Amino acid sequence: MSENTTHRIGLLEGDGIGPEIVPASVKIIDAAVKTVGGTAIEWVELPLGRTAIDTHGAATPQETLDALAGLDSWLLGPHDSAAYPEPHKSQLNPSGTLRKHFDLFANIRPAKSFQGSEPVVPGTDLVIVRENTQGFYADRNTYAGTGEYMPSPDVAIAMGIITRPAVERIAKEAFELAMRRDKRVTIVHKANVLRLTTGLFRDVCREVGQNYPEVSIDDFHIDAMTVHLVRRANAFDVLVTENMFGDILSDLTGELAGSLGIAPSLNSSHEKAMAQAAHGSAPDIAGQDKANPIAMILSSVMLLEWLSARTGDPKLAEVATLVERAVELTVKEGVMTGDMGGRATCSSFTDAVIERLARA
Ligand code: ATP
Repeated sequence: MSENTTHRIGLLEGDGIGPEIVPASVKIIDAAVKTVGGTAIEWVELPLGRTAIDTHGAATPQETLDALAGLDSWLLGPHDSAAYPEPHKSQLNPSGTLRKHFDLFANIRPAKSFQGSEPVVPGTDLVIVRENTQGFYADRNTYAGTGEYMPSPDVAIAMGIITRPAVERIAKEAFELAMRRDKRVTIVHKANVLRLTTGLFRDVCREVGQNYPEVSIDDFHIDAMTVHLVRRANAFDVLVTENMFGDILSDLTGELAGSLGIAPSLNSSHEKAMAQAAHGSAPDIAGQDKANPIAMILSSVMLLEWLSARTGDPKLAEVATLVERAVELTVKEGVMTGDMGGRATCSSFTDAVIERLARA
């Protein structure tokens, strides 16, 4: 890898707090790239979300999909699709569209508490591996249409799908990840009621697990899992589950680890990766400089690690490690946004992280 390798990374700010937390992440990464040296990033800004509806007539414009096809990776800000005007509001939302279009099947959602903060469950350090392409989110399950039906005004039906190949590939991700961590996988399902669908999910995960004899496996019903997490989130390592269960559980684990505002995620296939905070667009605090940028920053860290492995550029992994350490040091030294009990703003937290890059 030559000294002047330039990585092109897409930038989609999104809605709500997106225009605050995405630039904060970029600012920190640019500063860290400068500190580490030997690598370079070119950010490719692309339209998405509410502003793209006005400028391009679609929340996820074709121009954006075409540009992303030529990139390995991108940062996606949150979107507030519930506030879009019709017909955009009823269409598949931007992150769903991108996950489906690029078959980003693995949604990796870590929940790790910080030293210096006061999490609900101290010592939490787990990762939810969420299947991203099917399950009980009906809008991911069809080639055309949304997978939801309303035969009459008083009847609504949603379709859930679980397939063996999709479970096999997400289970493999979970077990590979567990091999790099504490070698424990917990399968989350509801096979006592959704016997065929989530039963298939559980059974195929267990089959895949036979290829990883070093990894211990247990499984819980989704409802029981919420209880165990509230009591002892710090006792789990890797959780693997279907789309909707994973979405709900990861809000819970983010909050248990300290705040939804610190919960990162990476959506990936073997070819492409999309960094996206686990939280939404937080319209209640948008435009007030109150948002916690940690989730977006740490999602970007996960993206850089992924890109480093894909391109063979070790400098990107160095940048990722430096940024993560600087964020940890910042929190340890008591600089936190309001959701974590601190008084920092999104911008002052960002500057505090940059100041600490030199000694992280
Ligand atoms: P979505 O369905 O798009 O995931 P949501 O309905 O789950 O969105 P969020 O937008 O994630 O809702 O917000 C849930 C709560 O968490 C809100 O009170 C919001 O202000 C808060 N929140 C979310 N992200 C952050 C953040 N980065 N910093 C501070 N608070 C946040």
